[in-house]
Parts: sequence; C-alpha cells; structure tokens
Amino acid sequence: AANQELERLSSLDGLTSIANRRHFDLYLKKEWRRGQRHTEPLSLMMIDVDFFKLYNDTFGHLAGDECLKLVASTLSDQLNRPADLVARYGGEEFVVVLPNTHMEGATQLAECMRKAIVDLQLPHPESLTADMVSISIGVATQNFRTTGESSQLILAADEALYEAKENGRNGVISRIIKV
Ligand code: GH3
Ligand code: MG
Ligand code: MG
Repeated sequence: AANQELERLSSLDGLTSIANRRHFDLYLKKEWRRGQRHTEPLSLMMIDVDFFKLYNDTFGHLAGDECLKLVASTLSDQLNRPADLVARYGGEEFVVVLPNTHMEGATQLAECMRKAIVDLQLPHPESLTADMVSISIGVATQNFRTTGESSQLILAADEALYEAKENGRNGVISRIIKV
C-alpha cells in the first residue's frame, strides 16, 4: 500500500495536484502504441496561459500559483472519459491526451475549455487580449495510417499553439498530422 501511494504521488504535480510531466510522457507513449495497434485516432492539446508573465508582474507570484491551480482544476473538470488525461507540462503550460478522439471532438472540447477559463472571470487588467485570464490551445490529431513517433504529435500541437498565439490568443487552432 505504501509503495502504491508513493507511485501515485510520483505521478502528480506538486502545485496543481493534476498529473505531472513524467506521467504524461508515459501515458502518451502507451496511448500512441494503443492507437497504432487498433488504428484509432489520438488527439493531443497543448495549452498555454496568455500573458501569464504580466499576471505575475501585476499580482505577484503567489497569486500566479493560485491562478494555475484554478486553471488546472477547471481544465480537469471539463474531461468526461476515463481515458482522457490532463497534465501540467511545465510552468504555465498544460497538455490533454484524448485517446480514440477525432479532430472534431478534440476541437469541440478545446473550445469548451477555452470558454470555461474565460468564464472564471479572473481579472487580468494587463492582458492585451482580454480583461481576464485566458488560454490559447493547439490541437493535433493523428489518424494512424502510418508509423511514426509520439513526439510528432507534440510537435504538431506545439505548432498549432504557436499559431493560436499569433492569431491573437484566447483561441483554438487544430491540425491533422499529414500522412
Ligand atoms: P504568452 O501569451 O505568449 O504565453 O505570454 P506569457 O507571458 O504567458 O509567456 P512567457 O513564456 O513569457 O511567460 C510565462 C510566465 O509563466 C513566466 C513565468 O514566470 C510564469 N510561470 C511559469 N511557471 C510558474 C509557476 O509555477 N508559478 C507562477 N506564479 N508563475 C509561473
Ligand atoms: Mg508558456
Ligand atoms: Mg503563456
């Protein structure tokens, strides 16, 4: 039981209590192999808080920490399926793994998450994109018609996130990995 508790704790992020980077890395590799085996689609979201440096500068680092906790639990609340995983990727970045999920479904969920964060109405007076805390999301979907590596899904989601930032932030951009 003690070992199980240790194992559980080593999968969690200390600040937000959602899954950590280590757990995400293992989970994505596992789901990648499963998707390939069963030729099921696999979607990944990369999420980044908009103008978060300015949030810290305005309210202080501790308030920033509280904000990240709230963002993490709000993202987590949006998940419905047991196989879906949200994790803290690092800093103010989060990832969501969506096994057996097409781009349409993943994009819909991303839009719900984006809206849920804005609906928290956490004031962010210095943000250049809204008066409150917002997130940008990049979505990537792999349809497994070919081989490859799970890292290409991360790369594609990252590129989509970059595009969402360029697009003015507080938005969602999706892409399918070309075969
Ligand atoms: P952008 O909209 O382009 O994402 O702007 P940004 O300011 O969010 O981007 P940038 O990467 O410049 O800043 C991220 C900030 O997140 C800087 C860092 O101090 C803050 N940050 C990262 N991890 C933590 C944390 O654990 N707690 C707090 N309070 N701040 C954090
Ligand atoms: Mg960032
Ligand atoms: Mg940011």
